[in-house]
Amino acid sequence: MNTIYDVIVIGCGPAGMSAALEARAKNLSVLVLEKGESHNMSIRKFYKEGKRVDRDYKGQVVELKGELDFQDGNRESTLEFFDTLLKPINVEYQSDVESVSQSDGIFSVNTSDNRSFKARFVIIGIGKMGQPNKPSYAIPPTIRKSVNFNANDARSEENILVVGGGNSAVEYAIDLAQNTQGGSVTLNYRRKEFTRINDINAKELESALSNGQLMGRFGIDIIELSDEDGKVAVKFSDESKEVFDRVIYAIGGATPVDFLKKCGIQTDEKGVPLVSQTLESSVKNIFVAGDIALKSGGSIALAIKHSYDIMNEIAKRTNL
Ligand SMILES: Cc1cc2nc3c(=O)[nH]c(=O)nc-3n(C[C@H](O)[C@H](O)[C@H](O)COP(=O)(O)OP(=O)(O)OC[C@H]3O[C@@H](n4cnc5c(N)ncnc54)[C@H](O)[C@@H]3O)c2cc1C
Repeated sequence: MNTIYDVIVIGCGPAGMSAALEARAKNLSVLVLEKGESHNMSIRKFYKEGKRVDRDYKGQVVELKGELDFQDGNRESTLEFFDTLLKPINVEYQSDVESVSQSDGIFSVNTSDNRSFKARFVIIGIGKMGQPNKPSYAIPPTIRKSVNFNANDARSEENILVVGGGNSAVEYAIDLAQNTQGGSVTLNYRRKEFTRINDINAKELESALSNGQLMGRFGIDIIELSDEDGKVAVKFSDESKEVFDRVIYAIGGATPVDFLKKCGIQTDEKGVPLVSQTLESSVKNIFVAGDIALKSGGSIALAIKHSYDIMNEIAKRTNL
C-alpha cells in the first residue's frame, strides 16, 4: 500500500488496459484498478454473445500505433485476445475507485472500501456506462423528478431524504444538512452501523447527527414510494410513513460526472471533462482516455489510441 506507482490507471476497459500495456512497454510501474470482477466489463455486459466487433466501428477509422494491435473479431475472440495481453499486468479487480486526491504532487486513488493507492500520474478510463444502482421497488412516474441519484437538483428549503450507507450518501447528507435553509435532511440506511465510510465522514456524520443538523433513520429499509400531492411519500419497513420534497439515492454505482467532480476535474455543461490536446484534464497529471473523454461516440480503437498518446506524453514528462 506504500508503493508510489508511476501510473495508476482507473478502469480496465480498452482505454485502461492499453494505457497499462503502454506504460509497461516504457518501463513505468503501473497498477490498474477495475471495479468489476474481470476486465472489459462494458464489453461483457453490453455486447450480446457472439456479437461482431468491428475495428473501424461505425466507420471511424483510427490509425493504431503501439502495443495493442486490435483487429476485427467477435465478442468472445476480443475478450480472449485482451485476456492474453493482460496476463503480465498488475490489475486489482473489485476496486471501485471513488475519488482521487492530491498532496505534494502525489495522487491518492481511493476505493469505495477505503483502500488508497499512490501514483505520480493517473489515467481515468472508466467509460460512460457506469450507472447508479436503483431501488428494487417502483418509482411512480409522477414523482420521478423528485427522486434523484445525485444531489445536483436539491434546494436548501426542501425536506430531503438521502438513502444509502456509503461515503457518497453520507457526504451528500452532511453537505445538504449544512446548507439547509428552512428545509430538513434525513439519512436513511438499512443497516444500523456504517462500516463502509472513511474516518472523516464517520466523524462528520456523528457530529451532524448529535447537533441535530441531520436526522437519521437507521436499521430500516424503504419498501414503497408513492405520490402524495406531488411529494414523495416513503413507506418504511417498520410501517412508518414520511413525506419528503425530494429523495436522493446513493446506493452504489456512480455516474461519470459525479466521479470527475470528486476528482476535482472540470467539465463542460454536459459533464464532458475539459481536456488539453494531450488529453490532460484540468488537474495537472490526471489524463482521461476512451469514451469518458468524448462528447459522444467512441470505439475500442479510439480508446487505444488515446492511451498510446497519453503514455507518450507521460514518458516525456518522466524524461524517458
Ligand atoms: C452495444 C455496443 C456495441 C459496441 N460495438 C463496438 C464495436 O464493434 N467496435 C468498437 O470499436 N466499439 C464498439 N462499441 C464501443 C466501445 O465498446 C467503447 O467505445 C469502448 O468500450 C470504450 O472503452 P473505455 O475503456 O473508454 O470504456 P469501457 O469499455 O466502458 O471500460 C470502462 C471500464 O472501467 C471500469 N470502471 C468504471 N468505473 C470505475 C470505477 N469507478 N473504478 C474502477 N473501474 C471502473 C468498468 O467496469 C469498465 O471495465 C460498442 C458499444 C456498445 C455499447
